[in-house]
Amino acid sequence: MPNNSLNQKSLGAQAGTASAVSALQENLPAHPLPPLQDRHGRTFDYVRIAVIEQCNLRCTYCMPEEGVQFKEKDMVLRTDEILRVVEILARMGVRKVRYTGGEPTVRSDIVDIVERTVKVPGVKAVHMTTNGLLFPKYAKALRDAGLFGVNISLDTLKADKFETITRRSGVDKVLESIDLAVELGFPRVKVNVVLMRGFNEDELLDFCELTKDKPITVRFIEFMPFDAHQIWENGQHFASAADLCGQIERHYKPQGLAPSQGTRTEHHMYQVPGYAGKFGVIPAFTRSLCGNCSRIRVTADGSIMNCLYSEAPYYLRDLLRRGGTDDDIVALFRKAFDDKYKDGFEAKKAASVAAKINVSDISRSRASMTQIGG
Ligand code: SAM
Ligand code: SF4
Repeated sequence: MPNNSLNQKSLGAQAGTASAVSALQENLPAHPLPPLQDRHGRTFDYVRIAVIEQCNLRCTYCMPEEGVQFKEKDMVLRTDEILRVVEILARMGVRKVRYTGGEPTVRSDIVDIVERTVKVPGVKAVHMTTNGLLFPKYAKALRDAGLFGVNISLDTLKADKFETITRRSGVDKVLESIDLAVELGFPRVKVNVVLMRGFNEDELLDFCELTKDKPITVRFIEFMPFDAHQIWENGQHFASAADLCGQIERHYKPQGLAPSQGTRTEHHMYQVPGYAGKFGVIPAFTRSLCGNCSRIRVTADGSIMNCLYSEAPYYLRDLLRRGGTDDDIVALFRKAFDDKYKDGFEAKKAASVAAKINVSDISRSRASMTQIGG
């Protein structure tokens, strides 16, 4: 008499082997887990990890001149911890990883981190956000390591204004980095511009014109009040996405400006016919894109953030160092995303209630974007 249970088991084992083989071929995790979702039905497949808090610039909208109270080195996630987190998230369906900071190129093992991340089963693309100053030193190695996309932050094309905004010199180096990234053939090269009234709003069209010959995407990001009482003040430097789109459309309409496809958060993207690249606006403050959110953030000191505007801490680093199992880590991510609010407005309101402070003061209580990574 055939042993059914045995037969089923061996069939199961065969099916298991087959799926493991196909997972290997597609470089998918051998032991996948249900995807990371929140109670509003969103799925999270993109993680942004800040690998360092330190930075070689002092952008006025990000950090005070003297820097912020940086965490002790030991408080920042170690390379093996970062890789473990990525591996677990990839089992939960995360396919895109972005390294940010602080300035990721200030971390000496950044190439090693990228190289190892590219090999994690399930990870389809590794990206980096950088201020571009040290990028030329690592660019070739990063490309060889498999880095897919590079976002270079640059807020002005003028040397004197660069010094005003970043409190350091180096605009030429950053422009060089953009060209180098294109030359080396990174599949995605983007330029992030934080557009601020009274600082660089007059350069909006100059930045759009960069896309005439360069196959890059220029993204104008709304200024957010995460700058610990530096230049946000009463929002006088804030330029809204709607306003920036209006200026762009008025100028380029006669040239036949066409809407273009962007990522989930690149809501207003355009291309001028005949231009090599495209440009667009990211409503980071007006938050019209929260419904499309697919991002997980991990801060340099190892906290999970379920929203840029949330202050609720989920202490991943402590769990990793207390000997937390993979199941414990999965559970912490699930808890963080079960708790996620519908949008950034609700998250901010909840944070203000928890901190017993006025809702308009909540983001200003945060010392700097350098801990979050943008
Ligand atoms: N140092 C790297 C850089 O500047 O690209 C990576 C970290 S930085 C915090 C990531 C992004 O956040 C940059 O594009 C930066 O311009 C943006 N950012 C920082 N502070 C901001 C703020 N207050 N409002 C909007 N964007 C901000
Ligand atoms: Fe440094 Fe980036 Fe912050 Fe500028 S925005 S100070 S480059 S971390």
